[in-house]
Parts: sequence; C-alpha cells; structure tokens
Amino acid sequence: MRYISTKGACAPVSFKEAVLTGLPPDRGLYFPERIPTLPAAFIRSLPDMTFREISLTVAEALLEEDIPHAVLKRMVDDTLRFDAPLVPLEPGVEVLELFHGPTLAFKDFGARFLARVMAYFIEGESREVTVLVATSGDTGSAVASGFFQVPGIRVVILYPSGKVSKIQEKQLTTHGGNITALEIEGTFDDCQRLVKSAFSDKDFEKSRRTLTSANSINIARLIPQSFYYFYAFSRLGELKRPVVFSVPCGNFGNITGGILAKRMGLPIDRFIAATNANDVFPQFLRTGVYRPEPSKQTLSNAMDVGDPSNLARLLHIYHDDLKTLKKEIRSWSVTDRETKTLIKKIHDETGYILDPHGAVAVAGMHRYLEEEPEFGRGVVLETAHPAKFLDIVEPILDCRVPIPERLQAALEKEKESLRLSNRYEEFKQFLMAHHS
Ligand SMILES: *Cc1c(COP(=O)(O)O)cnc(C)c1O
Repeated sequence: MRYISTKGACAPVSFKEAVLTGLPPDRGLYFPERIPTLPAAFIRSLPDMTFREISLTVAEALLEEDIPHAVLKRMVDDTLRFDAPLVPLEPGVEVLELFHGPTLAFKDFGARFLARVMAYFIEGESREVTVLVATSGDTGSAVASGFFQVPGIRVVILYPSGKVSKIQEKQLTTHGGNITALEIEGTFDDCQRLVKSAFSDKDFEKSRRTLTSANSINIARLIPQSFYYFYAFSRLGELKRPVVFSVPCGNFGNITGGILAKRMGLPIDRFIAATNANDVFPQFLRTGVYRPEPSKQTLSNAMDVGDPSNLARLLHIYHDDLKTLKKEIRSWSVTDRETKTLIKKIHDETGYILDPHGAVAVAGMHRYLEEEPEFGRGVVLETAHPAKFLDIVEPILDCRVPIPERLQAALEKEKESLRLSNRYEEFKQFLMAHHS
C-alpha cells in the first residue's frame, strides 16, 4: 500500500518512508492511498477473537504488503501487553478503559506500535535514528516508555521546566538508557520550536543519524488507534443495535482511528467528538468555517489544542463533504465547571472515578442522549487513569485515588534530566555532541 499526502502536492511513498520521515514534504499528513474493507464474516466473528487476533487482522489489511505476517504479529503482540476492558457505567453506556498501559494513558497504544515499526525498518541498516519529541506531558511519557530499550533508536524528549505535573515529570525522566530528557527553560511552544528548527537544519542532513518525530501525526501511531474500536465493539454483546462512541478530542488522532475503523467496515453509527473549551471543531461543524485559535488551558490539558492536526486527515476521509461528516460526527464543547460536576456526580452515583479527559467524553455522551434518547448503545473512551491527575480529581471527590503500582514505581525513582536554555544553538550543540 502506498501512502499519500492529504495535501496531494507530492508523490505517494512507501509505508516505510511515511513512518521514518513522519511528515510529507508538502506539510500535509500521510494517509493510506485506499482504505481496505474487512469482510462481513470478520465482523461477525469478532466476539470469538482475542484483542490481539482482532488487531492483527486489522493491521494486516493495511500493512500486509509492507511487513511480513510473522513480524507484524510480533509487533501487535508486543504492543498489546495489556487489556482495554469495557466497564459498565450507566444503563446503555460503557467505559472503554484505555489506560492500562505502562504510562496510564491511551497514547501507549500508538507509541508502542510506532516504536516497533520504526525498529523493524531501521534494522540491518547502517543508519540510526534519533526521535525528537516536544511534550507538554502525556506524549513524552508514552514515547519514552514505548521506545525504551528499542535497538538503534535514541529518544530526546524536550519538556518545559516547571510546566508539567510532578507525576508526568517522573514518567519522563526516570528511564535512562536510550531515553534522554531535556528540561527546557521555557514554554511548550519553545520546545516545539527547538524541535522544528532541528528538523529544518541542513547540518543534520549530513549526519549518519536520521532525525525523526514521534508526534501524533505519524501514521504508525494512528493505525493502532483503530484496534480498540474493533475490540470494544466485539465485547458489546448484541451486535444488532446501533453503536455510538464518545471520544475526548485534542489533536483528533484518537477519533480518526475510530473513523478509520468505521471505513474499514466496523458498523459504528456515530461518533461524538467531545472537546473542552478548545472548541474549534464544534464551531466548525456549526458554521462550516474552520478558525484555528491559540490553545486555552483547561483541566483536561492533554486536549488543549487550538488547531487540531488530524483534522486534515478527517477532511481527507470525508472528501471535504461537510454534510456526511455532520451526519456521522456530533461535537460538543464542555466547560471545566461541567467536567468537575460530572466527576463528582458519576462518583456519587456509581463509585466510578473518571479522569478529567474521560469526564469530558461522558459529558458529550450525555448531550447526545438528550437529543437522541433511542440511540442504542454508547461507549465512552476513558483515555487516562485518574491517578495521573490526582491534584484535580482528589479535591473534587474528597477521597483518595488509588495509585497503580507502575505509576508508584516511577514516582520512587530519581529524576534525571539535562537543563538547557530555550536557545536553539544550545540545543543544537547538545544534539551534535551526543547524536551524530
Ligand atoms: C492526547 C490525549 C487526548 C487527546 O487525544 P487526541 O488523539 O489528540 O485527540 C485525550 N486524553 C488524553 C489523556 C490524552 O493524553
């Protein structure tokens, strides 16, 4: 399968090239040239298959020409070392828990798969790869954990000093080995600027190491985000009733994985794109005009995105047909106040502890239910464990949130980071010294 740019201004490339370069030269996003459809017999047999079997079939439909069966099977098995259980929340609504991976957020799926795909493509080549990632928290920890000890790959994480939570910082800085954490004296935007400058710096083209990105735009991060939609569907039981998924959205990578699943034949009736105060998408659906904005800070900070990158892929899938898009995707913006109220209400009524991101998705599902009480079944994606957001959740609930062992382990390790200013020259010097 070849991969095309959503901007269509450059030639199609192989999957390998799309993964290793991350971004096409025309600054669009890579996407499969054609979306394969899975046979109806596969959809019927979903309930009898394991998560890994389902995921391998989905991955193979997209990647069978690019990665041999046995290798792809190993990648899928290694990626999915944890489950994604469905937990009943309210009548007709279930939570799909995507936080059982090593860093307690759904980004583990994408980062772990990407790391294995990259390692495969550079195996046996003389080149080595340095992955640069700027993070405001969650992406960095998933990438660090996903790439830890992967041969031939070094990871350099840039995070803004003092601007990530204590827990997030520990998750970023306690790996060692092939992972280096740079604590930048500046903002997240400074971190992103440094990474971008390195990518466009010709001096790095001559070096033996390839610089690449592991941001959510990489197509190998998107593909595994379709697996768990199939899996959730397979565990719903009655397959005859319409199914709606509510997804907490930031860069819209997670929901694009779901729409890819639908296009491959999974009978999902509708998606709810739940956003926080960063509401460019619901505004776009309402007005038909897309107006990116500077991001606003909210309680669900991994969704604080004012110009979602995967919108390019969404529009590509829908051929810019706003009418169909509006039929298949509903979208609401949820305030911090509503998020807090809902975390409290759900805990009081059911005992379930939502994190702020999952709470936004539950709020989106409730809005939908008000409009369509006869909808059928609802699945809400819970993208992070509440223990990652103790400072927010505990004061709301006035009770302790249990901390999973794997998080506790990171909290007990020593932080190891290198402090740099936000000047590009300093960052470049570091890269040149350590990575050429
Ligand atoms: C990244 C993230 C999101 C947003 O996902 P997108 O794919 O960017 O839409 C939601 N919740 C959590 C916990 C995240 O880390």
